[in-house]
Amino acid sequence: MVECDPSRSGTRGKHSELVKSQKVRLNPNRFDGLFRVTHPSNRADPDQMPDSAVLPQHECGLFGVFGHPNAAVLTYYGLFALQHRGQESAGIVTSNGPGTSFQMHKDMGLVSQVFGQNELARLKGTRSIGHTRYSTTGTSTIKNAQPFVVDCVRGQMAIAHNGNLINADILRDELERRGSIFQTTADSEIILHLLAQPLDNGGNVLAALRRIEGAFSILIMSERELIAVRDPFGWRPLSLGKIDGAYVLASETCAFDLIHAEFIREIEPGEVLIINEHGLRSERPFPDARPAFCMFEYVYFSRPDSIMGGVNVGKVRTEMGRELARRFPVEADIVVPVPDSGNYAALGFAEELKIPFAHAFVRNHYIGRTFLQPSQLIRDFDVRVKLNLIKEMVAGKRVVVVDDSIVRGTTARARVVNLREAGAKEVHMRVSCPPHRFACHYGIDFPDPEKLIANQMSMEDICKYLGVDSLGYLDVEGMVRATGKPLNSFCLACFNGDYPLPVDPALDKFIMERREQRAKALADQEAQPTLFTHLK
Ligand code: SF4
Repeated sequence: MVECDPSRSGTRGKHSELVKSQKVRLNPNRFDGLFRVTHPSNRADPDQMPDSAVLPQHECGLFGVFGHPNAAVLTYYGLFALQHRGQESAGIVTSNGPGTSFQMHKDMGLVSQVFGQNELARLKGTRSIGHTRYSTTGTSTIKNAQPFVVDCVRGQMAIAHNGNLINADILRDELERRGSIFQTTADSEIILHLLAQPLDNGGNVLAALRRIEGAFSILIMSERELIAVRDPFGWRPLSLGKIDGAYVLASETCAFDLIHAEFIREIEPGEVLIINEHGLRSERPFPDARPAFCMFEYVYFSRPDSIMGGVNVGKVRTEMGRELARRFPVEADIVVPVPDSGNYAALGFAEELKIPFAHAFVRNHYIGRTFLQPSQLIRDFDVRVKLNLIKEMVAGKRVVVVDDSIVRGTTARARVVNLREAGAKEVHMRVSCPPHRFACHYGIDFPDPEKLIANQMSMEDICKYLGVDSLGYLDVEGMVRATGKPLNSFCLACFNGDYPLPVDPALDKFIMERREQRAKALADQEAQPTLFTHLK
């Protein structure tokens, strides 16, 4: 690691030499820590700025209720609290128990757009499961919106899934050979088909769950039971709560707070929790696996008011900021967060170094889709429409910007341009997690690795590209220390390439679509000789 103390005056030249003399350490495959740019006047070229920034997308949000007369309304509010986990589609399925029909409503859009009073009034029943979706496998269309429902030999069943299966194509091939007809391109439907198999065809719920591999937190509703499942690695969160004697399940505990439900406990990795009229029962059908909770839930995805692994997410982020400040201190006039997910790390950073904290970026919370592409008229529109800068706060100041992550670097670069144009004297960037260099195959939609800036550039080049005076990333040890948990509790694959479960590098969110295209091409090839034979 090349380290320099950016708070010392006159270090710029020395650091430049240091960087040059240790070029071997600027390997983009290694974490190199803090960099101070050798040409502070090097500003980002706005004309080269891409139109839109790409941030990793959230996965999905789950909410379930068993035994409450207002199951649909509680699920609506639960999904509302989990909206940050998926904004493409939302759905709720309700049931009144054995002998009654499942009711379902789902559509594309935000929870508040998909459900009105009429839709909720039609969703009768005391049990329900709900889902907000961001697509991690399968395109974003209504046919892939969840929950999925089937009516099979085992009665009605509904499923909602958060995560990514890594053996989805193999299982789907097998099921199709046995006659299953799929309605969607989502991996989650595979689980439903496995569950729906007749008992004499291996259709046992626990046996079916043992067939799937990868990241999965799942809610399954049958006519008699509500079942919560968490994969043995525990990649995605899932918690149990209680309200008015009814059980509730949610991806994040912030959903319990909104409906005044009491948080009971997290569903443990590898646990299958069955809720029915007799109460709760736990099964553990999976072989043991090492824990691999997604570190990015703490860094970026989850809401700061949620509890994960017994710790508050906002507190962990604040501690990450403190770790970052201790590792890469800087003399500055203000600490500016990139809202919202950078807020807590910036607070910890500012508190640790006793530098004033300033909300200089103002976030617009009401952005819908922008159909016009004004890139020719308004430079870096996509960035400015989300965050605007209060110029008076930064003019003439030495500014430290704290962000939770840098993915492609385009957004960060545009923010630095904003700050420079507003008259900031110095701009230092601090990031509360290590550089992202690898793909995620467990349910987070990162851009392709070749689009990840840390995969493509050395730290020195990133520093120059962003146009900052210095750049410091928190290291893996500091990030993990901030959680208060051991290193081996986490999946860190997108940071260090150490995948807890081996994956096919060709696996991405469109694998099912490509599979359909392959099948069509094969069918076309097979059709050719028949046609020629016939013509002869
Ligand atoms: S690879 Fe990264 S984003 Fe994906 S599960 Fe692991 S820590 Fe989370």
